[in-house]
Amino acid sequence: MVASLWDDAEAAGHAGDLGQRIYTSRLLGRDPDLVLHGGGNTSMKITRRNVFGETVEVLVVKGSGGDLATIDESGFAHLKLDHVARLADLDVLSDTEMARQLTLAATAAGPPPSVEAILHAVLPHRFVDHTHADAVVTLTNTPAGAELIDEVYGDRVVVVDYVMPGFDLARTCAARVAETKRPGVEAMILMNHGIFTFADTARDSYEAMIRLVRMAEGRLDRSVPTWSNRSPSAPGIDRPSRARLLARLRADVSAAAGGPMVMSSHSDAPVAAFLDREDLADVSQRGPATPDHVIRTKPVPMLGRDVAAYAAAYLAYVETHRDRAPAEIQVLDPAPRVVLDAELGMCCVGRTPADAAIAEDIYRHTMDVINRAEALGGYRPISTADQFDMEYWELEQAKLHRRGVAGPLAGEVAFVTGAGRGIGRACAEALMDQGAAVVGVDVDPAVTEQRQGRQWLGVVADVTDPGALAPAVAAAVERFGGIDMVVANAGVFPPGTPIAQLDEARWRQVMTVNLDANLSLLRLVHPFLCLAPRGGRVVVIGSKNVAAPGPGAAAYSASKAALTQLARVGALEWGGDGIRVNVIHPNAVFDTGIWTEDVLAQRAASYAMTVERYRTDNVLGIEVTSTAVAAMCVAMCSATFACTTGAQVGVDGGNSRII
Ligand code: ZN
Repeated sequence: MVASLWDDAEAAGHAGDLGQRIYTSRLLGRDPDLVLHGGGNTSMKITRRNVFGETVEVLVVKGSGGDLATIDESGFAHLKLDHVARLADLDVLSDTEMARQLTLAATAAGPPPSVEAILHAVLPHRFVDHTHADAVVTLTNTPAGAELIDEVYGDRVVVVDYVMPGFDLARTCAARVAETKRPGVEAMILMNHGIFTFADTARDSYEAMIRLVRMAEGRLDRSVPTWSNRSPSAPGIDRPSRARLLARLRADVSAAAGGPMVMSSHSDAPVAAFLDREDLADVSQRGPATPDHVIRTKPVPMLGRDVAAYAAAYLAYVETHRDRAPAEIQVLDPAPRVVLDAELGMCCVGRTPADAAIAEDIYRHTMDVINRAEALGGYRPISTADQFDMEYWELEQAKLHRRGVAGPLAGEVAFVTGAGRGIGRACAEALMDQGAAVVGVDVDPAVTEQRQGRQWLGVVADVTDPGALAPAVAAAVERFGGIDMVVANAGVFPPGTPIAQLDEARWRQVMTVNLDANLSLLRLVHPFLCLAPRGGRVVVIGSKNVAAPGPGAAAYSASKAALTQLARVGALEWGGDGIRVNVIHPNAVFDTGIWTEDVLAQRAASYAMTVERYRTDNVLGIEVTSTAVAAMCVAMCSATFACTTGAQVGVDGGNSRII
C-alpha cells in the first residue's frame, strides 16, 4: 500500500513554492510503487518579474529522465508558460520542433524539460504530479479497464484513452481541460500509462496522488490472491553448473549487444512464482506496464536461453514497424534486457550494474502488474506498434544518452583477490574508475562494506581454502554474469628469515598463500575467462624479488618466482582461448598491508639503509605507490596490451640489479 510520507517537520525544511515542489517530488520518488527510475514528472506554475519589470508566468517542470527521488533545484526546467501552453493549439509539431520550441521557451538555464512539459502547461492547476503507479496501470491494462476506473473513481477523474506521450497526448488532454475544472475532479487517468493529479498546493496534489492510488490498490486487493509466499522452485542444477550456464548466456547476450554486458541473476520466491505460471509464454510477451519502461527492458523479456532467436524476433519487430517512425531510425541492439529461464530464474542485463538493476526493478513491478491484471480478466498493455513508437522515439532514447559514457571497461567484470587493502584495493578502485564491475575477495570482513554502489561486490573468503574460493567465484558470476579479468594479488610477505633458520611450516604457509591458492584460482576462473566477450585477462602481482631476490626472503622470493612461472605457462596454454596473462613486478610499494613499520625497518636494515633511503632506493629515486601498480593493472586489462601476453613489467622505479 502506498502511504502519505508527508512530514511537517521535514516539509518545513523546504521553504517556498519551489521548496515544496522539490519536497513532494522526492516523496513521490521515494515510493517504487508510484515511480521507478526517471519515471513520472512534476511541475508548478509561478510568476516572476522579467528584466523589463513585467510579470511573466513560468512553468517549472522536471527535466527529462531525471530522478524524482533525488531531484533538486537544478533538476527543473523553467519555461515561459504561455509559449509552452500555446504549442498545444498547433495541429502538428514534430519532435525536433517541439524540442526547439521548449528550448526557446526557457527563462533560465536548466535541463531539457520533461517530454510531458506541454501537458503540464495546459493543465490549469498550480501544482501537477504525474506517476505510473502500479495499481493504476494494473487496472487500466485490462480489457475492462475503463469500467474498473469508473467503478473506482466515478466523477473524480477524467479518463483519457491511450495516446503516445509527447505532443499528441498534450493536445488530446488540452481538449479535455474544461472537464478537469469540474468541481470534485482530482485527477486525469491515462489508460495504459498512469495518472496526473493537480491542486493549488504541492501538498494537496501529492496527497491526492496517494489517496487516488490507494483507491486503485483497494480495488486490486479484493481480486488478487497473495502469491508471493510460494517457495522458489527446487534448484534443478548445482551451483557451479548454474554459474557456467549463466556465463554462457551472458556471453551470448553480449555478442548480440555488440559489446560486454553485465547480467545479474535472481531466483527468489516472487520470480519463481512468476516463472511457474502456466501461461508464462503468453503473458510475458505482451509488453510493458507503462510506455516508458520499454527503453529499459525492451518490449518483452526473452524466454529461455536462445539469444539468436530472440535477436531475430526483435529485428523482425523493428522491420515490421520501422515505417511508422517519422525519420530514419538507428536500429538498437537486439539483445534482451530481461531473461526468464526455468533453470536460471530472472536475469537482468545492462551496460552497467546500475542499468541491470533498473531493468530488474522495472520487471519485478511488471510481474506484479501482470499477476494482478490477469486476476482482473487479463493483462492488456499497449499494442506492439505503440511499443515501437515509444522505443524508437528520439526523445526517449535521449534519456538514455543523457546518462553519459560508462568508461572503457563498462560491461566487464574483474575478480580481485586481496582486495581489502594495498595493491589489491588500488587495482579494484582503478578498474571501477574505468567502468568495470569488481568482485573483491579478502579475508577481512570489512571488504563487504568497503565500497558502496552497484559496481562493487565484496566477498569474505580465504583464498587458500578452495571450499571458500569456489563460492566466491560463483557469487561473482551470479551477481554480474561472468568474470573477464582476474587480478591474482593476495599474498603474504613474512618477516625476514635466513634459510638456515627457515622452518617448514613457515615455508609451506607462504607457498600456500602466494602460489597454491593462485593455482586454485586460475583453475576455477578459466571456464569463465574463456567466455569473456573481449577475451579474458589475468594480471598476476609478482615481485621484484623474482629477478632480484633479497637475503632473508627465501620463501617469498621462491613463491613469487614459482607464481611467475605458473603465469608464463598459463599464457602459453590459454592464448588459444583468447586469454592474456601478464605479470607486474612491483617493488617497494610501502602503502600496502604487508609493509608494517617493523617489516619496513627490518628490510631497510638488511640492506644497511635508513628507512627513508630504502623507500626511494630505485633508479628514478621516486616512491612507488599502489596507485602506480593499479594503473599498470588497468593498462594490462585494456586494449593497450591487446597484443601482449606472458609479459613481465616492473613497477619499481627502475632496479639497477635488473636493468
Ligand atoms: Zn508518463
